[in-house]
Amino acid sequence: MNKKRSNLMGKNQKYVYFFGNGKAEGTAEMKGLLGGKGANLAEMTNIGLPVPPGFTMTTEVCTYYYDHGRSYPRSLRKDVKTALGKVEKSMKAKLGDSANPLLVSVRSGARASMPGMMDTILNLGLNDETVKGLIARTNNERFAYDCYRRFVQMYGDVVMGLKPVHKDDIDPFEALIEEKKKQKGVYLDTELNADDLKDLVAQFKSAIKKHAGKEFPQNPMDQLWGAIGAVFGSWMNDRAIAYRRMYDIPGSWGTAVNIQTMVFGNMGEDSGTGVAFTRDPATGENVFYGEFLMNAQGEDVVAGIRTPLPISELSKRDPASLKQLGNIRSKLEKHYKDVMDIEFTIQQGRLYMLQCRVGKRTAFAAIKIAVDMVLEKLISNKEALRRIEPDQLNQLLRPIFDPEQKANAVRGGKLLAKGLNAGPGAASGRVVFNAADAEEWAKRGERVILTRIETSPEDIKGMDAAEGILTARGGMTSHAALVARQMGKVCVAGCSVLEIDYSSRTMRVNGKVIREGEWISIDGSTGEVVEGKLETRPSEVQQVLIDRTLDPKKAPVYQEFARIMSWADEYRRLKIRTNADQPDQSANAVAFGAEGIGLCRTEHMFFGEGKIGPMREMILADTLEDRKAALKKLLPLQRKDFEGIFEVMDGMPVTIRTIDPPLHEFLPHDEKSQRALAGEMGLSYEKVKQRVESLHEFNPMLGFRGCRLGVIFPEITEMQARAIFEAAAIVKKKGKEVEPEVMIPLVGNILELTHQEKIVREVAQSVMKEQGVKFKYLVGTMIEIPRGALTADQIAASAEFFSFGTNDLTQTTLGVSRDDAGKFLIPYVEKEIYSKDPFEAIDRAGVGELMKIAVRKGRSVKPDLKLGICGEHGGEPSSVEFCHEIGLDYVSCSPFRVPIARLAAARAALKDQRSKGKSSSGRKTAPWKRKRSR
Ligand code: PEP
Ligand code: MG
Repeated sequence: MNKKRSNLMGKNQKYVYFFGNGKAEGTAEMKGLLGGKGANLAEMTNIGLPVPPGFTMTTEVCTYYYDHGRSYPRSLRKDVKTALGKVEKSMKAKLGDSANPLLVSVRSGARASMPGMMDTILNLGLNDETVKGLIARTNNERFAYDCYRRFVQMYGDVVMGLKPVHKDDIDPFEALIEEKKKQKGVYLDTELNADDLKDLVAQFKSAIKKHAGKEFPQNPMDQLWGAIGAVFGSWMNDRAIAYRRMYDIPGSWGTAVNIQTMVFGNMGEDSGTGVAFTRDPATGENVFYGEFLMNAQGEDVVAGIRTPLPISELSKRDPASLKQLGNIRSKLEKHYKDVMDIEFTIQQGRLYMLQCRVGKRTAFAAIKIAVDMVLEKLISNKEALRRIEPDQLNQLLRPIFDPEQKANAVRGGKLLAKGLNAGPGAASGRVVFNAADAEEWAKRGERVILTRIETSPEDIKGMDAAEGILTARGGMTSHAALVARQMGKVCVAGCSVLEIDYSSRTMRVNGKVIREGEWISIDGSTGEVVEGKLETRPSEVQQVLIDRTLDPKKAPVYQEFARIMSWADEYRRLKIRTNADQPDQSANAVAFGAEGIGLCRTEHMFFGEGKIGPMREMILADTLEDRKAALKKLLPLQRKDFEGIFEVMDGMPVTIRTIDPPLHEFLPHDEKSQRALAGEMGLSYEKVKQRVESLHEFNPMLGFRGCRLGVIFPEITEMQARAIFEAAAIVKKKGKEVEPEVMIPLVGNILELTHQEKIVREVAQSVMKEQGVKFKYLVGTMIEIPRGALTADQIAASAEFFSFGTNDLTQTTLGVSRDDAGKFLIPYVEKEIYSKDPFEAIDRAGVGELMKIAVRKGRSVKPDLKLGICGEHGGEPSSVEFCHEIGLDYVSCSPFRVPIARLAAARAALKDQRSKGKSSSGRKTAPWKRKRSR
């Protein structure tokens, strides 16, 4: 805040907000002004909870303080005096009164919680006189001197600068306590008696005088202003600054300061203190969850010196307080409509609430709580959708490790490495280093992790056979990552610290050697690679929908999932399709709610049963005739694949892409396999070798691939179109609807598309004629290179749909290879050059701009142009939101991400509704009035 504004604010500004006696000047909505703690103390007071009275100095005082050379607004002293007067009246005690002294705490409290980063002072108001009043009131000399001792120590540390700077320095107060214990021959602080503590107070005061050159202040008002200054000052300590940087909390927010009547949990066995959650934050179960200690202060619970008891045990120690806490629990939930995290103190049988805030919870609990609260009519289903992060659904969908077992393994030094969390879920298996072994071992009933430097299409069957896939190279959209996700496999990719040696069948990592056959465990949700075997659990949702081994009625977690999905479907505008190229993958996706296929990559089919032979024949052919002969063999095989997919999709749209990868990917690269292939084909080894060499490219991703293959070898497009349309005709004749959409990849020039489109349409006409059946079909293109996006108006003249291939569009826009980026992308994200991996979440400023241009230009020519996305971003929540914003019709993602995309699409629609609502009501509010809303 600038000086001018805070000067202006000085006049008639309200800086102090009182709470107490069932009424507060603030509310929970005022977190910006009162900080989280202050706003909730006010709110709890207003709803009639027993909060010790006090007042909050606003965050604006803090900003003023820093804008004005660490001084306060003029009216502040008067306001503090008035508020303090109210507290004194309410407590029938006075700060500094030697007979009946009021003691207060002085605590920080920013808008966002910054646990332990700033300073706190307790028991303020004690001095050589008032301590006698405390003794008289409590009849407990030891207690009173313990409070005084703690106060002088805290004050000396925090306000008078005796706190050690370096962690190796000794706290002078702790040194004196240790000395005292030694003298007395005792071990615990609690073994010191009142006289010992009284003596320590005297020693502490001399230590302050010696180190600070000033006396410990006896005047309580001086103590108070000293403490206030120290708490505001702690907003700018190194810890707080570092914490704010880490969590993006602006320094301009400032902290509030809460001054509140002290209550004591350490006044004897009828006193105590505790913390609790209104529901179990780990499981979400609707039970009161917390712990407490009798005869203790808050710091004793946190410090872990004594073991706290579960909250239910309070029934034995103080049943009345437990009953009251139970009522408070339900009152808080009804009021805040959320799970709350509370702190309470019992002073001589009387319960006080010291803090409440929205409780942090696990993903699993977040989902259960949101669903339960809708069923309990506490919140709307819209609110539940807003509260569940789409990625949290992975917890319900994917297998997970036993959390305790994994934590133990990591603690025991078994964490080998961390790569990209490319395919969520948990998998354990024996390491194998090639796809053929993976298949063979799996056939023998072994669980394996296929571990490769990188994967290629020929590894596809091994990937399918493995429990999980681990690679040393490759990014979030590398072959391994996208195929794994499509198959629903666990995958950690781009784990560059792995040194994999295929010839010795070993992998070295951080000085350890892992050999073929040894167990490892990979967590595709976090990217962790752990040595040894960890137990995994399949999710209930998977057991119900995919494995079909569990009755949905007996699956409560599945039921939660189903509810969330049906609520999401109520609100989303985007359709959700899937990327699948096998009937079983398509069926999985439909079970998860997919409404069509957005990308069927035909190249994977060529590795299926009986197909790689004719495919290689086609590539090795010298003449058009030979090529056509090979394609003729492929036709029925590919047709069968499409038939299977059309059957499963049962009338839903199916986008099939013509061949995309460079042809060399279909040929073997090592001499042994090339010789074997030559033998099978009746060709010389030299011939095979020469062909592989001639297909070699320095930069295959920018080379002879995509529609370029179809333009140069039109007979390939022709065969694929025929296979698609013949399959469509067969399925249609069986009485099912079909909706094929033929998609041409890597188009950057309209003439590429029209060239391919002509072939496709001619084949469609002849198949319809030959088969005597009519079906609808579309021809469209991928937008995946910048020129395609920039000339989208020309392309839309022919294309009936666009599907954004954001994997290639990211690669080509950023000039970053999707397969090699692993090495520097992780550090790039760590250095915040990219806020997120651009292959994971759409780079809105670059790739996103191109998408917007393509949408605008495309729809300017064809207003109802169908628009979708089939890059891996189609299953990433923030990218789904972006797709909603720019007006796409659908997103397409791998089967297991379909539920995540459904939820993300609903949340995007709800956010949109809200901001539209807000902007229209905002227009009615004068801007100067809106400025203060925080
Ligand atoms: C893309 O580039 O985004 C895409 C879906 O195609 P592929 O990943 O097969 O290149
Ligand atoms: Mg592509």
